[in-house]
Amino acid sequence: MKKIQISEEEFAAYESVRRLGHHNMFTSAAREMTNLDKETYIEIIEHYDIWSKKYMDDNGTFGGVSNCCGALFMYPGWPDNDICSRCKDHSGLHEEEDKNE
Ligand SMILES: [Zn+2]
Repeated sequence: MKKIQISEEEFAAYESVRRLGHHNMFTSAAREMTNLDKETYIEIIEHYDIWSKKYMDDNGTFGGVSNCCGALFMYPGWPDNDICSRCKDHSGLHEEEDKNE
């Protein structure tokens, strides 16, 4: 079996739908919202720990969170997208302490 690589964008797509409150991510409706193919989607579900560690910061964010309510931005996420996933409205970036990578 080939090892599936998940890109940050793909993980962000999954995570942003999950955070919209889809408690059951195993439904095809949830998968369709992510626009991910089935293989990719299942890989993220099965190895969520691995991919979330790889792409998310310690505080559970990636690519920044909105400054209105601290939610994630809609896919594809900041800085390509400034729509807050909770408000569905334009939002700025919540300034966090600088992190030296
Ligand atoms: Zn908001």
